[in-house]
Amino acid sequence: MTGGPVIIVGAGHGGYQVAASLRQAGFSERICLINDEAHLPYQRPPLSKAYIKGSAGPESLMFRPEKFYQDQKIELIAGRAASIDRAGHKVHLASGETLAYGHLVLATGARNRLLDLPNANLPDVRYLRILDDSEALRKIMPSKTRAVIIGAGFIGLEFASTARIKGLEVDVLELAPKRDQLIIDYSQGMKKKVGLAAALIHNPKVLFLDEPFNGVDVVSSRTVRGILKKLVERGVTVFFSSHVMELVERLCHRVAILRAGQVVALGTVGELKSQIGAPESSSLEDLFLASIGESEETRELSWIG
Ligand SMILES: Cc1cc2nc3c(=O)[nH]c(=O)nc-3n(C[C@H](O)[C@H](O)[C@H](O)COP(=O)(O)OP(=O)(O)OC[C@H]3O[C@@H](n4cnc5c(N)ncnc54)[C@H](O)[C@@H]3O)c2cc1C
Repeated sequence: MTGGPVIIVGAGHGGYQVAASLRQAGFSERICLINDEAHLPYQRPPLSKAYIKGSAGPESLMFRPEKFYQDQKIELIAGRAASIDRAGHKVHLASGETLAYGHLVLATGARNRLLDLPNANLPDVRYLRILDDSEALRKIMPSKTRAVIIGAGFIGLEFASTARIKGLEVDVLELAPKRDQLIIDYSQGMKKKVGLAAALIHNPKVLFLDEPFNGVDVVSSRTVRGILKKLVERGVTVFFSSHVMELVERLCHRVAILRAGQVVALGTVGELKSQIGAPESSSLEDLFLASIGESEETRELSWIG
């Protein structure tokens, strides 16, 4: 790419990545990243997850340390683009500074929809979008007992889950048709994640899940397993139904085998072996098959050989 400096308006993930990728691809002309936030470019996803829980500091959010921008000659310009002179190939900043560009990249991202309600400007009405919002919420949560969350999308539910963990009573408001639409539109795996997040809001003592690892990607599957293990360590009883015997054997302290709606075996895998009289080397799969016996369906498939 040739033709003068690249000016990037907005130093979010998009803006940062354009600058970094241009340098990586060998672009050698001036690159300016106009940043209207008082932080090095940072990632937002942890703002409603680890960061707001208080388990990570601001430095953990930054894509790169300051030295990276110096080494790569990416100029971080603190300020806000106020107007563009397309004919003159210039950007005017609110500070009065003017920057000439060969290419202009608008990476200005998205904004929260602001609440158009009476008293929406009261001090305890907060938005969650930028680092400063998350920081402020993290600080005030310990002194609060209740939170009302407007919006049951991912960010709303993630915040709700954190607030419950911090001991706050939580109400989540959502426009019903919108909520239904969201759920219908999600893939099976996404539905599971939303379902689990919604269940965790209630800080349950007992959790029933149907195939929590099926239909989600491998990263989520591992994350879900991690969440469930932590819940169990905190004293929560987790029940999950699954026909993936290897997973059940690896994760569950006790198992119940059901046949036609009846519990036919119950206990630890060791106890099941002695109940069924199965050899010590038996896997849960062997015990399962021994307990349920051969089904009609299996017999009908005998032609497979
Ligand atoms: C709390 C939270 C949790 C999220 N969790 C996830 C997640 O788990 N998974 C996922 O995939 N995505 C998640 N997202 C979404 C993800 O962070 C966004 O998709 C991503 O940040 C978009 O990057 P962007 O660079 O396009 O825009 P933004 O991140 O919005 O960055 C745009 C930047 O441009 C600046 N800007 C705007 N106008 C001007 C101007 N005139 N002059 C100078 N600067 C300007 C803005 O202030 C901002 O800093 C989450 C978002 C939030 C807020």
